[in-house]
Amino acid sequence: MDLRIGHLYPDLMSIYGDRGNVLALTQRAKWRGIDVETRSFTAGETWDPDWADVYFFGGGQDQGQDIVGADLAGPNGDALKRSIDGGAAVFSVCGGYQLLGHEYVPEVGDPIPGLGVLDVTTRAGKVRFVGNLLAETDDGKTLIGFENHSGYTYLGPKAKPLGRVIAGHGNNEQDKTEGAVQGKLIGCYLHGSALPKNPWLADQLITWGLARRHGAVELTPLDDTEEYAAQSQAAEVAKTRT
Ligand code: GLN
Repeated sequence: MDLRIGHLYPDLMSIYGDRGNVLALTQRAKWRGIDVETRSFTAGETWDPDWADVYFFGGGQDQGQDIVGADLAGPNGDALKRSIDGGAAVFSVCGGYQLLGHEYVPEVGDPIPGLGVLDVTTRAGKVRFVGNLLAETDDGKTLIGFENHSGYTYLGPKAKPLGRVIAGHGNNEQDKTEGAVQGKLIGCYLHGSALPKNPWLADQLITWGLARRHGAVELTPLDDTEEYAAQSQAAEVAKTRT
């Protein structure tokens, strides 16, 4: 069995250690004897929409988002939509999350159109949210990461929150939601990188990715003692956030 990871715009959208998400997906698959190949998909290249099983789309600066938004408005956006329609999963963080939505309206400059595959809209707010972010899913799973964004994201009816904020801000300053889930698309504000300290989420993405070409797969459990110890430690720090 093999897993194909598409890293979206790694040269433009990979800040605050976000590349670690690709490393976590890779290692957790390899620990289970699954072969892994990662390919970069970035601006100006011609993308193969039928290759990747799961994509990672990281965070970036506003100017990087301008370039990526323009690229997604062309053939590469069509290719990514076709790939998602074909069953590929996407994990996105911050700027990548914002660009999977309908648009990102920065504090200065024109609105940046998003791909529109995730029913969210983002507008720059007055306060930049920076710090440890702790949230919990509906079924009680912990989400921990580090947020650094001035974009405030609001969910439409087709998207569901990834979690409820316990400490920090998450999507915006009002509804205490963090991230969004829609089909096999996940967006969030968890930099850090997120997946090493949220192993359950990494395994969910690997399972979704493998299902595209291999059908339903039950991953063998790993010893995540250290991962959850790191999660608990970071969660305690987040709870002290004023
Ligand atoms: N420029 C966007 C914001 O500040 C995204 C930043 C990021 O990806 N960390 O909201």
